[in-house]
Amino acid sequence: MTMYPRKFDYVAVGSVAEAVEALRATEGAKVMAGGMSLLPLMKMRLLSPTTVVDIGRVPGLDSIEDRGDHLAIGALVRHADTAANELVRTHAPALATAASLTGDVQVRNRGTTCGSLAHADLAADQTAAVLALGATLVAQGPSGTREIPADEFFVDTLTSALEPDEVLVEVRIPKGGTGSAYDKLGRRGGRSDYAVAGAAAWVERSNGTVTAARVALTGVGTKPTRARGVEEAIVGTDGSASAIEAAARRAVEGVTVLEDLYGSEEYKAHLAEVYVARALAAALG
Ligand SMILES: Cc1cc2nc3c(=O)[nH]c(=O)nc-3n(C[C@H](O)[C@H](O)[C@H](O)COP(=O)(O)OP(=O)(O)OC[C@H]3O[C@@H](n4cnc5c(N)ncnc54)[C@H](O)[C@@H]3O)c2cc1C
Repeated sequence: MTMYPRKFDYVAVGSVAEAVEALRATEGAKVMAGGMSLLPLMKMRLLSPTTVVDIGRVPGLDSIEDRGDHLAIGALVRHADTAANELVRTHAPALATAASLTGDVQVRNRGTTCGSLAHADLAADQTAAVLALGATLVAQGPSGTREIPADEFFVDTLTSALEPDEVLVEVRIPKGGTGSAYDKLGRRGGRSDYAVAGAAAWVERSNGTVTAARVALTGVGTKPTRARGVEEAIVGTDGSASAIEAAARRAVEGVTVLEDLYGSEEYKAHLAEVYVARALAAALG
């Protein structure tokens, strides 16, 4: 296997507007944030951008802000920062956990939360968390910015709703709910690796009754996806262990489960049920 990328041009931009202009002007250009997914793909020649547009030095993209009713996580916030941030741990524990279980220390120190979302890997951790948290992704392109609900962002394997000339500038996580959680089985048996199967859950409970829930799966289908059957089953219950167990049985309802190198369809469906139950129990706990 060759380990050198094809020839490419490199441009380090000073602003998002410059990045958008470079993407617009150059067919086949790609944004680089942490480079943790882009560079391996280029080295394996699975991806050969004509130009790498490095946004790593753009000021103002590396903060996590409290904006009242939501948190805003900028495009250059690293997994390690998302995992450790008090605001994220308080208002979006599912995302803090997903970030803390991503790869190894090196990956968490270089890779970005937004980069992971833009990359849209079918087995990534942050993707399930932002679906369960009801996040909004903000993209900037030649005609300004637009907001994309997480539910519309993940289109297919390695395909997001971003246009080739758009930069994901931040992800917004609404505050609220009683709790959220994420858990997974990683590919090498541990938890710090892409998910064989993983689940994120967000819940709202009032007077002992679950009044709202969002549950999402990663690793089991062609893209991260909501587990609508589980959501329907858990709302209106008391969130007890038996209610969780019954709801988790609907984990892959309406989901096309794919066999891969890490497990058969049956095994993945089983894991989905196990991790949905764990995420729900932790979110309700
Ligand atoms: C050894 C290893 C282990 C890993 N383990 C895990 C794991 O356990 N769980 C997991 O979820 N992930 C894992 N990853 C992936 C990791 O999380 C990457 O950091 C992440 O997928 C991409 O973030 P990045 O900032 O490095 O993006 P880059 O590699 O720079 O970019 C990735 C893709 O997203 C696009 N992109 C990036 N930022 C933007 C933006 N702001 N706007 C528009 N497009 C953008 C790029 O053009 C490219 O197509 C692993 C990676 C490695 C190398």
